[in-house]
Amino acid sequence: MAQWVSFQTIKEQVSMEQVLDHYSLLETLTQKKSNLVGPCPIHKGTNPTQFHVSLTKKNYNCFGDCHGGGNILTFPLCCFDEISCLFPKRTT
Ligand SMILES: [Zn+2]
Repeated sequence: MAQWVSFQTIKEQVSMEQVLDHYSLLETLTQKKSNLVGPCPIHKGTNPTQFHVSLTKKNYNCFGDCHGGGNILTFPLCCFDEISCLFPKRTT
């Protein structure tokens, strides 16, 4: 039987670092206080200060061309059209 996981549970249990690491984006971003800043992966920008990720709030914003923004749930869908990184791998 399928086991349903609420969005709230995902928000609590999955970190922004895990999601970014899943898409190999961690190395493109630099830490500024509790944020990560770097080129925007949504519109494939090159400006290193346009894309901001809040690790504590688990959301992101683009201050460049696409003005993209959202939270940990919308990020993988918006950028990569899939959300497998939000679900922990089954061990059984
Ligand atoms: Zn953008």
